[in-house]
Amino acid sequence: MDLTSLTLTELRHALRTGQTTSAAATEAIINRIVAVDNQVQSYLTLADELAYQQAEAADQRIAAGEETPLLGVPVAIKDIICTAGVETTAGSKILDGFIPPYDAFVVQKLKEAGAVIIGKTNTDEFAMGSSTENSAFFTTRNPWDLRRVPGGSSGGSAAAVAAQLAYGALGTDTGGSVRQPASLCNLVGLRPTYGRVSRWGVIAFASSLDQVAPFGRTVADCAAMLQVVAGYDPRDSTSLNEPVPDYAAALTGDIQGLKIGVPEQFFGNGLNEEVAQAVRTAIDKLVGLGATIHPISLPHIRYALPVYYLIAPAEASANLARYDGIRYGPQINGDDLLDSLKKTRALFGPEVKRRIMLGSYALSAGYYEAYYGKAQKVRTLITRDFKEAFTQVDVIATPTSPVTAFRIGEKADDPLSMYLADIYTLPLNLSASCGLSVPCGFDSQGLPIGLQLMGDTLQEATILKAAYAYEQATAWHKRLPVLQSPSSPDEEE
Ligand code: GLN
Repeated sequence: MDLTSLTLTELRHALRTGQTTSAAATEAIINRIVAVDNQVQSYLTLADELAYQQAEAADQRIAAGEETPLLGVPVAIKDIICTAGVETTAGSKILDGFIPPYDAFVVQKLKEAGAVIIGKTNTDEFAMGSSTENSAFFTTRNPWDLRRVPGGSSGGSAAAVAAQLAYGALGTDTGGSVRQPASLCNLVGLRPTYGRVSRWGVIAFASSLDQVAPFGRTVADCAAMLQVVAGYDPRDSTSLNEPVPDYAAALTGDIQGLKIGVPEQFFGNGLNEEVAQAVRTAIDKLVGLGATIHPISLPHIRYALPVYYLIAPAEASANLARYDGIRYGPQINGDDLLDSLKKTRALFGPEVKRRIMLGSYALSAGYYEAYYGKAQKVRTLITRDFKEAFTQVDVIATPTSPVTAFRIGEKADDPLSMYLADIYTLPLNLSASCGLSVPCGFDSQGLPIGLQLMGDTLQEATILKAAYAYEQATAWHKRLPVLQSPSSPDEEE
């Protein structure tokens, strides 16, 4: 059996029925990482020793008849999520060598469920970016075309799952950082409702927007990841104390009568023609499956980008004040305290510095009302637009990303064009909705395209249901990128 080509759901079946073991799957994944990750560069840190221990423990639990959606499954974690005893850098030199003393809530949940944590994946520094080019360490490559970006900021997690170097992965989605790379790598990525998943132990970027979000090769895989990490946590004051539904039960394939809203604002200038075509065809497919289409309007969406780029940097500038070289990470000693601080904080990369400056400006006396205060008000209007739309429809369908994977370096020197990569994803983060990206086609260069499906507060099951019905009626998710790996040992079995 070629273990690494199995989906998460297929692996669970093989484990449950005794066709393989977690130890064998873990070994196959690690062997493949050794064979091909020098091309993809998705992992920053491998935790192979711990992974083998976790796999053995999982095999014992499986033998004892235990069942969880992730028992024995090797997964990857974005390097902005704290893992006890395993280096966690947030893609930044300012946390180089930082070893957290505790696990994030989501990591505790994964371990309780018996998942095997393979390692930590690359990210744009502090999750600021859409390509992983802002990582202080290296750029991850898109497994579909190694000259292109995998998207970001959770590009390492996306590339790892796409390249079959993990069966599922966690990222974070503050403005699109899971849905956009999912779209660029032919994966399913789901941004849950704010508060659905605890942020405890997640290194903060923009606290009112940050949310842990799972990747999978299929809708069922992504649902299994969400099932395990969702839930109430009193240590995150914004965590929602609401029951977690059985997401797998929502995957019926039946979307008869589902009302889909299609906002024309998401099909305007800047949208690549092939992407538009694929998304419209996907929406037709949903109609063919029994859904109905309703035109809706989200009039304040056009302010989403400037609102996001005031709120996110403002919150980031406050959150990043803690990196002083005294409590975490490397400290560079200068002539005096101020000089030491300056030298240490010079470890921040250019995008992080840009955000700190933007954010500090937006929050400063005299400008606060004009920028941050006004942005908060417009954020309320955007949230109301979504709320109003969800009184009329169950799901909103749009493209996930205006373009397919772009070339490494193409946007790196132009922050504004990089910010535009999230034009369709970040409105949702400003509201209290949830959304996912599901594979819906390929462009003429063979690069994946994603369909975004958004749902109302805590309606993760609804968007999963719609995505599953679509996925079952199409075959896009079955395509895998081809990597040259002549020596990959698991492929010789
Ligand atoms: N690309 C957006 C930004 O740079 C979103 C990032 C994210 O979701 N973490 O802010």
